[in-house]
Amino acid sequence: MVDTHCHIDLFPDPHAVAIEAERKGIITIAVTNLPSHFEMGYPHVAGFKRVRLALGMHPLMVDKHKREFGLFKKLLNKTSYIGEVGLDFSPAGKKTKDEQIESFKFVLESIRDRPRFLSLHSRRAESTVLELLDEFKIKNAIFHWYSGALKTLDEAILRGHFFSVNTAMVQSANGKKIIKRIPRDRILTESDGPYVQLDRKPAGPQDMKRVVDVVKDIWNISAEEAEGQIDLNFKEVISRIH
Ligand code: MN
Repeated sequence: MVDTHCHIDLFPDPHAVAIEAERKGIITIAVTNLPSHFEMGYPHVAGFKRVRLALGMHPLMVDKHKREFGLFKKLLNKTSYIGEVGLDFSPAGKKTKDEQIESFKFVLESIRDRPRFLSLHSRRAESTVLELLDEFKIKNAIFHWYSGALKTLDEAILRGHFFSVNTAMVQSANGKKIIKRIPRDRILTESDGPYVQLDRKPAGPQDMKRVVDVVKDIWNISAEEAEGQIDLNFKEVISRIH
């Protein structure tokens, strides 16, 4: 099983989350919101086989990006995993739209040298994110918690991108509609903990079964088969990065 988008560093006890993921054998991509956070977490994940740290710059922290551009570049050779990066044009991010685009272009320009794992935030900015991926010729990106229009979703599918779905999505009618629309070989699972809460606790790698349980009903197959398909999808993504 795999959790492709978890903010381990924002949990009250990050070490405990990593140990639990490792013990349960759940491959967990620990996304970060700033390069300085990646740098801080790096020595802590070194001993874990299943926890992989991703280098990120969250769009809603764009006011801090510029002074971390140098660090982003410097840390790029330490990982093939990038996230969380992207754009947010919701009311929370609308005011910084232009700065976000500038920063996201910096990220895409910096990573175009080789294929990497890329976990994307795209809230209310789905079509712009997609256009920029095209512009920088980025393939096999992962739209995390996609919540945009079905038309843009179809275009992203056509381009070959992937989609990671979480416990919040499987509990909403719109989320389920989106999951139904995505081909089986493009779906991945994620927790987005601790931003996403489940039973008043932060969702984490251990909750991936809850996502699979809804996805398997949508696909009308067994949990084992659904889990197998998602593992296969993850292997496919990983096989293309280096
Ligand atoms: Mn996130």
